[in-house]
Amino acid sequence: MPSGRTHEVFNTALLPLSLLLPNSVELLPFVFGYVTATFFFSPDIDLSRSRVAMRWGLLRIIWMPYSKVASHRRVSHIPVIGLLMRTAYLCVIVAIPIAVLKAFGINVGFKNLRASSAHLISFALGMLVADTLHIVLDLLTSAFKKLISRLR
Ligand SMILES: [Zn+2]
Repeated sequence: MPSGRTHEVFNTALLPLSLLLPNSVELLPFVFGYVTATFFFSPDIDLSRSRVAMRWGLLRIIWMPYSKVASHRRVSHIPVIGLLMRTAYLCVIVAIPIAVLKAFGINVGFKNLRASSAHLISFALGMLVADTLHIVLDLLTSAFKKLISRLR
């Protein structure tokens, strides 16, 4: 399987192709989603010592339960499903302290956080493309290694 660095170089090398996106996709949210998924939210976050997990610093502890459930290269490496699972997991992790604070009367609302649906869709699309490229590179690398081992 490719290293975390290889995934990041691969995704970064393909990022300029986002300039070819149709006008219906907003470029800046797409790139932000793509970069986020490549460097902070990749399928390899289920490995506690992966580059992406280490980038979370001490906060990587929040991914430990996730990595127990999503054993490496299984559900986390299924296109769309893995990304949705990580997103849902992170939403739950973020919602817990907010609910606790709210129970103590501290309102941590996101009243000022506004994003149009076009921004959100473009951001999600950027995440999905980066996530899918990660999985495709994993599959291509595995297939290539199998081919090489058969030729020997
Ligand atoms: Zn992977």
